[in-house]
Amino acid sequence: MRVLVLSDIHANLTALEAVLADAGDTDEIWCLGDLVGYGPDPNEVVERMRAMPHLTCMLGNHDVAAMGGMEMEVFNTEARRSLQWQKKTITEDTLNYLKSLPDQTIIKQGVSLVHGSPRDPVWEYILNTLVARLNFAAFETDFCFVGHTHNQCMFKLDTKRDRVSLEIPKPGVVLEMTSRAIFNPGSVGQPRDRDPRAAYAIYDVEKQTWEPRRVEYDILAVQKRIRDAGLPDKHAARLAEGW
Ligand code: ZN
Repeated sequence: MRVLVLSDIHANLTALEAVLADAGDTDEIWCLGDLVGYGPDPNEVVERMRAMPHLTCMLGNHDVAAMGGMEMEVFNTEARRSLQWQKKTITEDTLNYLKSLPDQTIIKQGVSLVHGSPRDPVWEYILNTLVARLNFAAFETDFCFVGHTHNQCMFKLDTKRDRVSLEIPKPGVVLEMTSRAIFNPGSVGQPRDRDPRAAYAIYDVEKQTWEPRRVEYDILAVQKRIRDAGLPDKHAARLAEGW
């Protein structure tokens, strides 16, 4: 069974379409949250995703923000401007779908799925080996798939030496999943690891392999839609930087 693992689409329909085309046929899709926020296509992304068969989708912090679950004051000016735009753009239908998404860890095929971390499924960022170490104690399966940081990476736990290591795998190289590990497929719609290509991964359940992948998409088209929508220019500029 091949599983398409993706995260942090962030209302970028062009990047999502490129990923779906590049991934080809898969048996299941596991999405680790943040369907909306930053990008110009929140309704289109939600519509496209929810129509996919065999989809499991987690709730992300930007999905929570779009639902109005947070006070406006905690956001900076740009974030507030995006939220105001989202408020008038996101349909009732989209909102209802976001509200239906799970905010707690889900276990699929023996893998823990969360947006942020097992300790704090919606909010915590696993950016370093210390935070990863603390989280290995918070899930029982061998593997955990997370999103949220927009970095395509993996944290491995070497139980014999009691060491946690951070690895940045090479896109297109198939990895054997041996030790306990936390895998991040990277972000579809707003990568932040200095590679502007859309990121995702293929998980093969029987073979127990993980293949991180990158795919080019029409960044200029998305930047134009962001600017035309009157969203903050930073959201457009950063797509070209992969940051
Ligand atoms: Zn995100």
